[in-house]
Amino acid sequence: MLRILLFGMLASAVEVLGGVLVLYKKDWPRKAQEYLMALSAGFLLALVFFELVPESLKLLGGAASFYIVLGFAVLHFFEHTIVGHLHFGEETHHEVMVSKTASMAAISGMLIHAFFDGLSISAAMQFDYSIGLLIFFAIILHKIPEGITVASITLASKQTVKTAMLALLTIGGATTLGIVAAFILAQVNQSLVGIAFAFTAGTVCYVGASDLIPEINRSENRIAPLIVLAGMLLFYFSQSLLENLIS
Ligand SMILES: [Zn+2]
Ligand SMILES: [Zn+2]
Repeated sequence: MLRILLFGMLASAVEVLGGVLVLYKKDWPRKAQEYLMALSAGFLLALVFFELVPESLKLLGGAASFYIVLGFAVLHFFEHTIVGHLHFGEETHHEVMVSKTASMAAISGMLIHAFFDGLSISAAMQFDYSIGLLIFFAIILHKIPEGITVASITLASKQTVKTAMLALLTIGGATTLGIVAAFILAQVNQSLVGIAFAFTAGTVCYVGASDLIPEINRSENRIAPLIVLAGMLLFYFSQSLLENLIS
């Protein structure tokens, strides 16, 4: 348990670091953000289709489909149904972030997102340690852009650096809370970990396909879409490497 918690705290720390970068160095290279998001998107989506979906079906049978779709729907609801304006990458639309309510809503959407990042690392590691490591790696790749997103939302709504720091620490805390939540589920009933794992297949799919890919496609930088494919290849090599290390 301690090991998984440490992984979670590391993910939270990387997120806070991403935010601090934007707070203290205004012009963090846009390209670097996009490449990290693209690599994470490709890696996450390959992971969903090669590991998370097949393993969920093996574990829960046909019932897995319900939890996969539920995971996808829950993130969609909290990030884009009840929230007006939220997207990954640096927030530059100052005009929509003028109202505090808009920025608070966007931050709450990110809060739920960060919680499920943590939950997915923890549920997967409890279920199968090597799949968990792969999720952890894929999530770490987008934690710096995620921190940048959170810090820049607060700055765009003309709030202080102190408020931005508080928002970052809260979001980092939400990731760690997600880690702990999966342990609580396991205590209540071990079979809930399997359900959380299938649910994770849906949330991780959402992060790759709806949070990250649209940002890449919107970009004028045409190398970023290629990096998505590189992320898929990176998944393939990481998985083979991990298999060789374990056997
Ligand atoms: Zn915006
Ligand atoms: Zn995330």
